[in-house]
Amino acid sequence: MKDFEAEPHWIAEELEAVFTQIGQRQSGPRQLLLELLGELARTGQGFTADELWTRMRQKDGVGRATVFRTLKSLVEHEVLDQVEFPDGTRLYRVCGERVAPGHAHHHHLACSQCHKIVTLTYCFDSAALEQIAHNAGFQIAGHSITLYGLCQDCQTGTVRSVT
Ligand SMILES: [Zn+2]
Ligand SMILES: [Zn+2]
Ligand SMILES: [Zn+2]
Repeated sequence: MKDFEAEPHWIAEELEAVFTQIGQRQSGPRQLLLELLGELARTGQGFTADELWTRMRQKDGVGRATVFRTLKSLVEHEVLDQVEFPDGTRLYRVCGERVAPGHAHHHHLACSQCHKIVTLTYCFDSAALEQIAHNAGFQIAGHSITLYGLCQDCQTGTVRSVT
């Protein structure tokens, strides 16, 4: 199932702009990263930092720390979203607000078995969230919400009951 349709040219432009912003110089790794992230944006597939590093390393001798640092910057610049699963797996996905269609604020549904991530355009009542935070003496700067469970495929392939 494909729930995320990104426009490749637009993604490339946004990525170029962010790379310049974070001071990533025009180089082989930058070009390779553009290609890989463009491809991942089209599929909407989640990936681990090590998976990306492995793919980059095959064509370019880029260091692991560099890849991790770049991913962190891309999350900060709202190009990538990161989703943490209950088993500790952390996946990145090219669906940050900056590159999501219409720069749409969204959340994720995440399958704790197969690690599938689905975009959830629904958001909770922001007034209610602010009230909850206010009651605890907090001023909200943002939020990220991930709902975990089993996707349809995993439900049919398992005898475990889901609650
Ligand atoms: Zn997202
Ligand atoms: Zn699943
Ligand atoms: Zn929200």
